[in-house]
Amino acid sequence: MADETAAGSALRAGRRGRCPRCAEGRLFRGPLTLAVRERCETCGLSNAFADSGDGPAVFVIMILGLLVLGAALIVEFKLSPPLWAHLMLWAPLTGLLAFGLLRPMKATLIALQYRAEEARPADDES
Ligand SMILES: [Zn+2]
Repeated sequence: MADETAAGSALRAGRRGRCPRCAEGRLFRGPLTLAVRERCETCGLSNAFADSGDGPAVFVIMILGLLVLGAALIVEFKLSPPLWAHLMLWAPLTGLLAFGLLRPMKATLIALQYRAEEARPADDES
């Protein structure tokens, strides 16, 4: 995998929720939590650097806002369903998609953060 780009490996590690360095150890403490393990169980990488803040939620909101609003507008103009049908369709779908996207997005941002830390010169303390 020497020819793989840093962004490509970050996306792959993020999609699978794996360690940003070895891409094998699990990043999260459990299957339904967003809490990050203190160390990678495979390579021992300390995840103390990992602080994605509100970034994952912001990206998920933007992506889902675009997709769900676009889909809702298409359905409205093509089928003109009643308002309750929109509510019954889009509210659960948005919740499920947000739940499904949040962990991969957080893992991807942590992997990109790891790549940025890795690329920073060692004497740069700021
Ligand atoms: Zn690891």
